[in-house]
Parts: sequence; C-alpha cells; structure tokens
Amino acid sequence: MICTTALLLAALPQQSLPSDIRVEDLKAHIEFLASDELEGREAGKRGGHLAAEYVENQFRRLGLKPITEDGSYRIPFALRDGTGYNVVGVIPGTDPELADTYLAIGGHHDHAGLGSQLSGAMGFPYEVHNGADDNASGTSGVLELAEYFVAHPLKHSILCMTFSGEERGLLGSKALIESGVLPNDKIMVMLNLDMVGRLKNDYLFVGGLGTAAELHDLLDPLFDHSSLKLKLDDRGEAPSDNTSFFHAGIPAIFLFTHIHEDYHMPSDDADKINYVGEVRVLNLGLQMLQILDQQPHLSFVNLGGMGMPADFMEKMSDHFRMIAARRANKGKLGLRVKVEAEGGLTVKALSAGSAAERAGLQVGDQVLAINQQETPNFDWLRRALASGMKGDVVKIKVRRGEQQLLLSATLQ
Ligand SMILES: [Zn+2]
Repeated sequence: MICTTALLLAALPQQSLPSDIRVEDLKAHIEFLASDELEGREAGKRGGHLAAEYVENQFRRLGLKPITEDGSYRIPFALRDGTGYNVVGVIPGTDPELADTYLAIGGHHDHAGLGSQLSGAMGFPYEVHNGADDNASGTSGVLELAEYFVAHPLKHSILCMTFSGEERGLLGSKALIESGVLPNDKIMVMLNLDMVGRLKNDYLFVGGLGTAAELHDLLDPLFDHSSLKLKLDDRGEAPSDNTSFFHAGIPAIFLFTHIHEDYHMPSDDADKINYVGEVRVLNLGLQMLQILDQQPHLSFVNLGGMGMPADFMEKMSDHFRMIAARRANKGKLGLRVKVEAEGGLTVKALSAGSAAERAGLQVGDQVLAINQQETPNFDWLRRALASGMKGDVVKIKVRRGEQQLLLSATLQ
C-alpha cells in the first residue's frame, strides 16, 4: 500500500506542485472575518450572521452548488437564544462512479463575540474577540480549498462547510449532522481546519488518523516528505467539529497549529497570522484530499480519545495564569451614567476618589466620546472602556452646558 501511494504521488506531478492558494486571498478573507465590524462573530448574533453571509456569498461567487432544495447555502439551527447558521456548498465530482460519495472540508466561523462567556471568551465583557486564528483561519482555509477544487475538481464530490456554535460546544456541526441535510453515510472522510493560522517552528498537529483503517498507509508517504514538523495522532476526538463527524461514524481528520497566548483573547488578530505558514498547511490538506480521492471507500474505525498535543493542558494552565493576572489589573473609571430619553448618556454619579472624579467629571455632564470612540449609548461606553487597564489614560469628551471639554482620566 505504501508503495502504491508513493507511485500515485509521482504520477500526479501537477497536483503535487504548490497550489494556487495565495497569501493575498487568504489575507483578504481573514482581515474581513476578524475585523471589528464582525464583532467577534458570535453564534446567533449579528456578527455571526454576517460571517455566515460572507461565506455564503463566497460559495455563490465560486459556483458551489447548494445542498438544499430552496437553493440556500445557509442551514439554520436553533440556539437557546436565537438562530445559528451553518453554511454548506458542494463541488460536484468528475467520476460518475464516485461522485455520489463526498470528501468533506469544514471549519467553524463563529467565535467569542463581544466577550461572550457563553462562547468561551477569556477577555473582558464588551471586548471584541476577533478570532483571527480561531477560526477565521480555518473558515478562510475552507474558502481557499473550495476555490482551488472548483478549478481542479476531484473524482468525488466535495462538501464544503463552515459551522456556527462551535465555541458553545460544537452545537452547529452537531445540528448539521443531525439535520438530515447532509448525506452522512456517503461522506468518506471529513477534514477539519480549526486554528491553522499560527504555524510556529513548522509544528502542525494532525489528529484523527486512526479513524479509518487505511489512513496511515495512504497518507504517511505524504507526511514523510512534508517540510512541516507533523505531530501525528490517531485519536478521533478533539475540542472541535471533527468530533461531531467522528461520532456519526465518519473518519475525520483535524489540522491544528496549536494554542498561543492570544487564544480566546481579544488579541487574536489578523496581523498575527502566519499567512505563508497557513498556505503550507492548506497545501498539505489539499494533497491529503487528492490522495484520498483515489480511494472508493475508507473503513471507519471507532477509535475515541481526546487527540490533542501532549503539552496542551500545560499551555492552558499558563494561559489561565496570564488571564488571572490581567483580570486583577482591570482599570475602572468609577462613574455611573443614565440614558437620556432623547438619547445620549449623562453622568449620574461619581465614586469618591475615582478616576472620573479626579479627571474633573461632574454629575450632569453628557459623555460624548471616549478615546475618540463616540458613546451614544451604554453598550458603546462599555466597549470604549472594555480594554482599559489600571494606569491607562483615557480621553473623555463631555458636554457641560454650552461647553465641550476634553478630560483625561487615569484608570484605577
Ligand atoms: Zn475557539
């Protein structure tokens, strides 16, 4: 089997070459998805809906086929407090014998919103958790692989998916598997991309390789020749969406470049992504799918267990220590505001000795802006102050009678 695969690789020179997956395209997707405009893409919220719409528009632009009869790419599911949307599109296979079987590519597009505890935010409430690595990187990876395979279709059909509600406990992928919309028993394998944007020291975790009997024989020759330092793991479960597919009896593989100091923090931003690194990760995923496409069938193996890097828990403990230290340093302004009937916020009370009082604010002042961020309502006031740490100086623009004043407050 190993020799067969090696020969197969040699016989596909054009497909073994670096693909057309381009840094600029990846960057455009991630910069949009991880922009403040998307408010951290929380499932069921405005930002989450905008992310799903973005993916849907990309699927339509690329010419993917919808899987639903009404022609929509977005598949709704119920959340406790609203509606989440998974997004699904199909690239038809070229071989009539194999085209009713699917290779699936997926990644979640939701993240921790404006500091949503429910979605696992580790920063402060009202901070925008942009989730560039987690998981604008995987969402964009799905889009880039879809674009590639539209131009270079495989024998099998390809199911391209992005999920919502992952951060609340894999809710979207579970709902999708149970919805009856997907051809579950015709999905040969699922490739999950979750946090693939922070390649460091060439380390890439590849999980789920024991979930089909043939995976090692088929893929090890590719792995052996990879320039990446791969950590191969056989176990079928992970804190990510491949688990939902694995539990439905579908072989599922998980690509992950490991956690980092910005994990679930508002600092998980687009400018920290290793774009060249992500292209390398996506090229590996692409080649894995090209190899698996040569098979008519894979034999599922029910090999459970949490497949994660060995030092994952240790890194998480360091992370929680850092978060506790940050929480202890949260800065306070020390004022209470009320919302006026005609709009706007006015100062209702000042704590004695507080930053606000020392800055010279007075009861009755109308708060217009903080650090040049307008504060028309309570939410915007909270957002403007959300990241403030002890000792930070904030500029507060107020109206007092006929006057406008710009005051400086040192948070404490
Ligand atoms: Zn996450």
